[in-house]
Amino acid sequence: MPSVHREDGGESCFPFGSSRVQILHFPISWSKSAGRKPRLGQLDALSQDFDCCAMLCEIKTSYQEYLSDHVSTEMKQGDSAAQEASWSWERYLKEQKAVAAPVELFSKDQSFPEHENGFQIGMRLEGIDPRHPSVFCVLSVAEVCGYRLRLHFDGYLSCYDFWTNAGSPDIHPVGWCEKTKHKLHIPKGYRKDKFVWMDYLKACKLQNAPKKLFRNRSSNGPMPKEFQVGMKLEAVDRKNPSLVCVATIADIVEDRLLVHFDNWDDSYDYWCDVNSPYVQPVGWCQENGRTLIAPQGYPDPENFSWTEYLEATQTNAVPAKVFKMRLPHGFLPNMKLEVVDKRNPRLIRVATITDVDDQRVKVHFDGWDHKYDYWVEADSPDIHPVRWCDVTGHPLEVPHRANDVKILPGQAVCPTPGCRGIGHIRGPRYSGHHSAFGCPYSDMNLKKEATLLDRLREQTQANLESDSSHSKLENLCSLKFNGKHEKVNSQPR
Ligand SMILES: [Zn+2]
Repeated sequence: MPSVHREDGGESCFPFGSSRVQILHFPISWSKSAGRKPRLGQLDALSQDFDCCAMLCEIKTSYQEYLSDHVSTEMKQGDSAAQEASWSWERYLKEQKAVAAPVELFSKDQSFPEHENGFQIGMRLEGIDPRHPSVFCVLSVAEVCGYRLRLHFDGYLSCYDFWTNAGSPDIHPVGWCEKTKHKLHIPKGYRKDKFVWMDYLKACKLQNAPKKLFRNRSSNGPMPKEFQVGMKLEAVDRKNPSLVCVATIADIVEDRLLVHFDNWDDSYDYWCDVNSPYVQPVGWCQENGRTLIAPQGYPDPENFSWTEYLEATQTNAVPAKVFKMRLPHGFLPNMKLEVVDKRNPRLIRVATITDVDDQRVKVHFDGWDHKYDYWVEADSPDIHPVRWCDVTGHPLEVPHRANDVKILPGQAVCPTPGCRGIGHIRGPRYSGHHSAFGCPYSDMNLKKEATLLDRLREQTQANLESDSSHSKLENLCSLKFNGKHEKVNSQPR
């Protein structure tokens, strides 16, 4: 795990407090005196000089966050507007003699939204931490772009921010956890027994996101009652899709269930619907000649017996008859679509499917080297039909051509072909980069899947000791600290 430079121990609950607004005057006037828009490259160069001083780091952070929210968006929109004027899907498909992936192949979470994105910056909500799918957190809207949101964990650095769709089933209104008896992971610095949502909103002069902004998913129908929390099944490990493992339903929310792998940490957990091809009844591996991966630490894993295991754990299997197979996804190679770039998730790019398997599609970003291709779940909320960006008001990154990039004399630019210097390997905290070091696409960074520390690990170090309600997380983290975690990750599951 590479070390991460941390400037401070957390953030105030109101990120645009008066002290920050004041220090922003400096960079704004600096940019104006330069007679043109500040470039992201200049900012990085500027910030490197500041690294030695904690106070100036704060200025840097504020300025970069400000840029992230304002200037970069402005630049991006400006660039996108110029590109849009000369680029259209219609003409591009004709030129390429290609077809768009038919809209019917996309799920509700991927297709054109029925409602506008009504979220506004600063609104508070509850939602799932994508890196710990069993954990619900206090979140705020840090950025709104088309039908997408950048969400921020209250009390944590913005490097942990993540992007999601406004209609995501992972987000809920304030008070949802209490109503549904889920544990709410509160902002860092608050005590569990002292945290009251309404007091928090009032004290920090915050607004909760109105309930009407959250998508009503009841139309999908309720979860069949045969699926119950604690029941066992066999499930595909989405991080290692060739493996099918012993799993438990850890939670049920609306029409989705949370799959947890027995004796593995919760970073492998995922939410899926009951028709997902990733979940199968107990005995499925045996019937289909597949190897079932026993729970970690199971004695004699070669001879795992469901009968013995269910008896020993006093649990039941989900009845086999309630599993229904979803129809094949229908995506085919050469179809075009719009895909969120996982290496720079604020961006959505023109993409082509280059390969498919039962559950996934392999995407290629048009105009980019094939080394950037990767597999994505066919039901991922990050793939969209063509014109999704246009319809939802999101900038679309169109295929670049060599003469698209105009470099001014003396300008520091990212050396990666196609990269416009937007985004940073260290997450959304930094809006841009000007060198291979910060570039999410450079060869040196390409192999790094995760460069950030685990947010909850940081929490453990900071203040979990004083909060006994986090015993589960403490266990999780102690696993990591005593070295077993590395074993977990390196084991060929
Ligand atoms: Zn770059």
